[in-house]
Amino acid sequence: MVKTAAGSIQDTAGTRSALPHDGAGQYVPTLVDRWDGLIDWDRRREGEQDFFVELLKEVGAHRVLDVAAGTGFHSVGLAEAGFDVTAADGSLEMLRRAVANGEKYGRRFEAIHTDWRTLAQHIDGRYDAVVCLGSSFPHLFAEADRRAVLAQFYEALNPGGVLVLDHRNFDAIRMHRYRSSGNFYYCGKDARVSVAHVDDELCRFQYDFPDGATHHLEVYPILKDELNSLLTQTGFDTVQDFGDFSAEFDIHESDFIIHAARKS
Ligand code: SAM
Repeated sequence: MVKTAAGSIQDTAGTRSALPHDGAGQYVPTLVDRWDGLIDWDRRREGEQDFFVELLKEVGAHRVLDVAAGTGFHSVGLAEAGFDVTAADGSLEMLRRAVANGEKYGRRFEAIHTDWRTLAQHIDGRYDAVVCLGSSFPHLFAEADRRAVLAQFYEALNPGGVLVLDHRNFDAIRMHRYRSSGNFYYCGKDARVSVAHVDDELCRFQYDFPDGATHHLEVYPILKDELNSLLTQTGFDTVQDFGDFSAEFDIHESDFIIHAARKS
């Protein structure tokens, strides 16, 4: 257990996967240091316009589990909006930053360091909503892992709860139509984000920073309908899709796809 000024991190070190494409392990300290600059919290807030807050209020959510907390953008924002938030992440470095950002904005939340694959062992009770945002889920490369993790998210929900999960628009990216308006999610102006490689199994993003530093993140380029099928097969009753926060969207013109899946 690591104690911090803003709260405590339940440190489940050793639960991190040693798989070749370890999602959390890609967040090396030098990238974590740059993450908030990539996001630009103020511009990201402008882009989202309380979309997630409204979505969670619509289903009457109170207790929310942010399973890919990262540096805490949504954990902090949802806590500010009055939700009872638990932040979880497989990267201890990211989670520490989330707790520090909580402190900066005067928000405290429980923080759990765990890989999604072992989530059930570390959470206390069930939640009204699970959010997995910022194109985090594509860090899972094996279909068996995607199914197992969605089952963990499903189990973490109360009846009537909602899973809100997003990803970059890989339908477009796999057609070599990567575009980033810069208005959503990753709004910082300093870094240049490009697709260094994409095929049906792997997408490698390249982040070039003005000081000459370069980072890569590798993810599985999941398609919108592929994820919808997995959500339905997991047991979710209804799934609603959004493109860049809008229920009416053009799959070729959206930066991010958001799925809201309800458990009955
Ligand atoms: N949600 C944050 C945001 O939008 O800024 C962070 C998004 S970042 C793209 C992905 C996050 O997912 C990282 O913090 C990473 O550590 C976490 N992650 C990736 N794979 C994971 C896994 N298997 N278990 C737990 N966390 C994981």
